[in-house]
Amino acid sequence: MVNVAKDVEFSEFTKENFKTTLGQSVKLTKVTKSYDGIKALDEVDIEIEPGSFTVLLGPSGSGKTTLLKSIAGIIKPDSGSVMIGQNTVFDHQTWVPPEKRELSMVFQDFALWPHMTAVNNVAFALKRRKLPRESVKNLSRNMMEKVGLLDHVNNYPDQLSGGEQQRVALARALVAQVGVVLFDEPMSNLDTDRREILRFEISTLIHEYNATAIYITHDQSEAFSLADKIAVLDKGKIQQYDTPENIYKGPASAMVARFTGISGELPVKYAIGDDCTDVAKVIVDDELNCKPISLVATNDLANGKLKLFIRPTALKIVQPTPLSTLTGIIVDVSYCGKGYEHVIKLPDKSLLTKVFSENRFNRDELVGIMVDPSGCLLLKDD
Ligand code: ADP
Ligand code: MG
Repeated sequence: MVNVAKDVEFSEFTKENFKTTLGQSVKLTKVTKSYDGIKALDEVDIEIEPGSFTVLLGPSGSGKTTLLKSIAGIIKPDSGSVMIGQNTVFDHQTWVPPEKRELSMVFQDFALWPHMTAVNNVAFALKRRKLPRESVKNLSRNMMEKVGLLDHVNNYPDQLSGGEQQRVALARALVAQVGVVLFDEPMSNLDTDRREILRFEISTLIHEYNATAIYITHDQSEAFSLADKIAVLDKGKIQQYDTPENIYKGPASAMVARFTGISGELPVKYAIGDDCTDVAKVIVDDELNCKPISLVATNDLANGKLKLFIRPTALKIVQPTPLSTLTGIIVDVSYCGKGYEHVIKLPDKSLLTKVFSENRFNRDELVGIMVDPSGCLLLKDD
């Protein structure tokens, strides 16, 4: 019989061991980097806790790679400071080169050494530590096993699939057991099913080793599933740095709301705030023929044009009745396994997308829409 208690004790012991040795904090203060007068990073401040998994999420060109390379030491910022753990690795008088920063990186194109077998690619990352040959061999094989590639240790990169090469790159980044692991869109070249598996493997391994991970993606579902905290970047600035739950429920700006998944946005005629309760009654433009929506306003709403942003989870399609919040016409329907996703055209010709229902509603059908205020966000339009 398997002695479960003993196994659990052992694995807890090894995890604790890692916890004391890995996971450095990363702190950037007013980091700025310009290219030809355009700010790729604009006074970026961020403090990343040791052992946490941070995802950098943002549109193409928002500065994600520049930020990651500034941490790695591949790019030298124009000003500001970067600290890893207690060490300043960059400021106006300090420059620590990348190889001395005790971190590893996994890139989008995960360049493996073509002339080395998979296991030697992994072992190469241990070379600097001057370990005995036998230890290098054991650690490398052990890591190959963890990423599920024990059958492929002696294959050369061109004998491996994209997903397998990616896992070798991951093993190589993790085997060195450094405090910080940086990922720049590591799965963008992979098929969807491979991504799902690798996403799980990355998450498991990083948590097991308790390293600090900073991971770039522009895919919101990847961001939400991996992150302890998400940093949303736009135009070289961090718009918000918070847990996935807080970002979903309380995006700091219209940009953050849009980039983290909405079904649509309704123009607001006016909103009446209640000073005592934080509840705002939102009146949408007449054209939409929308019932008033009362919600808890999370942002300061003084000044500026407001918009009501609606998360997909807030919408329910019903038969049109005088009670439904909105009415619209189904213009598209697609089957998604557990039900159907609809696109609905509203009276002002704007669209609500990703409206889920277990039941199929057909094109050209007039429907009612119930809007759950807890999935609505009243924000300044930008
Ligand atoms: P992301 O990774 O979010 O797509 P990047 O950090 O690569 O964004 O780029 C941010 C901005 O800096 C973009 O406008 C990009 O064109 C510019 N940029 C990045 N690297 C260079 C470079 N080596 N030379 C000139 N401009 C650059
Ligand atoms: Mg990039």
